[in-house]
Amino acid sequence: MEVVKRLKALLKEISVINSSVSLMHWDQRTYMPSKGAETRAEALGYLSALSFRKLISPEMGELLETLSSKNDSTSLSDLEAALVRVVKHDYEKAKAIPPELYQKFVITSSKSQTAWEKAKKENNFASFSPYLEEILKLLREMVEFYGYEEDPYDALLDNYEPGMTTSKLEHIVSELKPKLISLIENLSAHAPIDDSFLKGKFSKHAQKKLSMKALKCIGYDFNAGRLDETIHPFTITIGTGDVRVTTEYKLSEFIASLYGTIHEGGHALYEQGISPELKWTLLDSGASMGIHESQSRMMENIIGRSYEFLSFFYPKIQRAFPKTLKDVPLESFYRAVNKVKPSYVRIEADEVTYNLHIMLRFELEKALINRELEVKDLPDAWNAKMNEYFGIVPPSDSLGVLQDVHWAGGMIGYFPSYMLGNLYAVQFFNSALQEIPELKKEIAAGKLSTLREWLKEKIHKHGRIYKPEELCKRATGEELSPRYFIDYVEDKFRRIYGL
Ligand code: ZN
Repeated sequence: MEVVKRLKALLKEISVINSSVSLMHWDQRTYMPSKGAETRAEALGYLSALSFRKLISPEMGELLETLSSKNDSTSLSDLEAALVRVVKHDYEKAKAIPPELYQKFVITSSKSQTAWEKAKKENNFASFSPYLEEILKLLREMVEFYGYEEDPYDALLDNYEPGMTTSKLEHIVSELKPKLISLIENLSAHAPIDDSFLKGKFSKHAQKKLSMKALKCIGYDFNAGRLDETIHPFTITIGTGDVRVTTEYKLSEFIASLYGTIHEGGHALYEQGISPELKWTLLDSGASMGIHESQSRMMENIIGRSYEFLSFFYPKIQRAFPKTLKDVPLESFYRAVNKVKPSYVRIEADEVTYNLHIMLRFELEKALINRELEVKDLPDAWNAKMNEYFGIVPPSDSLGVLQDVHWAGGMIGYFPSYMLGNLYAVQFFNSALQEIPELKKEIAAGKLSTLREWLKEKIHKHGRIYKPEELCKRATGEELSPRYFIDYVEDKFRRIYGL
């Protein structure tokens, strides 16, 4: 069909530009010399705008309209119909915002991030608050252009988690929150786990070798990717056959980098598993931020922090750092990497406390967008919730309300994806366990290929063809439910703490 061909050709043009942009981003954050920053920013700005213009071009509008009209849509294959649906959603979202408003938003969030960095360093929330006010004002304007059914926050959520709504999230939170708070109280009453041996001196060379081993073990394809160093680790897809992982090695502790690498490896397995059929179509990436995070969290926590995986992998860790770990038994190491402790900082949180950090952010950002909370009252509201959920209050705003870059970058509506990822991860893993009875034995033998094939078949290969909700139903037979996560953490951590 001629029109489909034309659409695919246009999508390829956009994708090829995006691929170049990704490669330049990767370079910017790994090897680019510092004096190249300005030139790179100009080049990136130009190419990104070019790709954006093609996405919202009149030609794109006409092609999508023709293909969505009744006569033409009946002759589309399933894949083509998905292509039209997803690209139309992208097109409409991009078209909805007047270019001047979008431009203003991009410039404001860039300035705001610089202000945030300074405010965090100086523990000065007041200096950042005018920027946050401005970001909120622009986002509220954008929300009106996007449109929404029930809650203005829905429109922002949709940018990261298509199909998710505020009311669905509130439902999940109301089920999960009391269970987590009570579990944390129970665990905190117990003697703390000793994890002192996780600190020491760990050479970069040994850490790097270990990270490579971990990636190989989970099935990351080094012929379709590579591992490099950066300051804030990320995974980036240049295109089909080229999915790159980055990590940061800290010399005084190896755990953060090892589990950080496994986390990024989970993201990378997803991208490496996407069907080559979707190459250059804009469908060749993850279904949503939450589904993406489910893949990284599964590898990092459900697999990487499991007794089974460590019974296979811990000897390799011991061999990497014999001085510190040769006399530490597996049992002690397993307990140490699963220690539960209420903490101020989200990115350092364990599996039990992590989702509460997200709920806190979700509740506050929703209240900000809906004008139920004023920016000047935000630090107090933050601390009150910290006290309510964890029984601790951060000693400074730098360790509290100023810790994350998301709000400064205008990414309101993003945080819930992290929680959804944790929930999806357990639900997916549970289904895999039922369909692969030998799975735990395989993991204990370092064999992850059966699980990887299962994930590829159920999730990875589909790219963005299905919305998260549908993907979840297809993979697990039901909608997302927090029940699996609750059972998982209660079972795992009661055992570890001997409750
Ligand atoms: Zn992630």
